[in-house]
Amino acid sequence: MTLQLDTTHHDRDAVGMTYVYPVLSRRSGGVSVGINLNINNACNWRCIYCQVPELKRGGPPPVDLARLEDELRRMLTTIIHGDFMVESVPEAMRRLNDIALSGNGEPTSASEFPAVVAIIARLLAEFDLIGRIKVLLITNGSLIHRPYVQAGLVQLSALGGEVWFKLDRATREGIKRINQTESAPDKVMGNLVRCAKLCPTWIQTCVFTLDGQPPDEAELADYLAFLGQALAAKAPLKGVLLYGLARASTQPEAPRLRRLPAAWLTQLAERIERIGLTTQTFP
Ligand code: SF4
Repeated sequence: MTLQLDTTHHDRDAVGMTYVYPVLSRRSGGVSVGINLNINNACNWRCIYCQVPELKRGGPPPVDLARLEDELRRMLTTIIHGDFMVESVPEAMRRLNDIALSGNGEPTSASEFPAVVAIIARLLAEFDLIGRIKVLLITNGSLIHRPYVQAGLVQLSALGGEVWFKLDRATREGIKRINQTESAPDKVMGNLVRCAKLCPTWIQTCVFTLDGQPPDEAELADYLAFLGQALAAKAPLKGVLLYGLARASTQPEAPRLRRLPAAWLTQLAERIERIGLTTQTFP
């Protein structure tokens, strides 16, 4: 496959596979192999900054596990043994960093989630990659209470994997406004604590201006208090990944959203660190 990757376009159809796609990641400075289970662009949330094209509400169709395994094996073969890096990746970024369960919707809404983690485990062993690359689950965290999701998290942890758990706001109103979902903060807390106890977990937070206004002080205070409560509940959090708007939203609210200056993110990061959490910022 001849394809030039860059860090601004994440075209999940670029290599003609159904579930597997390569991206150049600005965060890792290398290649990330994405696994998209939501091939119908359906998510149980509708975040106003979501970049998924033609996003709709719902869950994924049944996952064709044999196809997914075949695609992942072929992708790893061309990256590790083939000419993918030389043909498609700028020289400075020719390293395989991770396999990420991410994509065009919430990955854990697929009941095959633990079977997919088992496929990743099998292929990591086959390519002698266990402990050499990361395995990430990027999730909105809303389905962690489901037993099959927890089973997958246990397997993910055994692989040295990590969860990135979305938390943009910590009040019912804020979650409704930003993520367009009805979710009570105590339910979010329950899922976050459960998740962090099963698998190493980072919180992932996206900040931006909406109609020219950044998150206000009351929202920030609620968010910081929520983080403090998670620590008090003994959630062994790895820290907080603080993101700005990396790519344009595909949602109707897109014209109302703007990036925040890097200094704004740095200030929030300092406040988060004061309550005892590590941060990484990606303005
Ligand atoms: S959870 Fe992720 S995929 Fe779902 S709407 Fe939000 S940003 Fe989009």
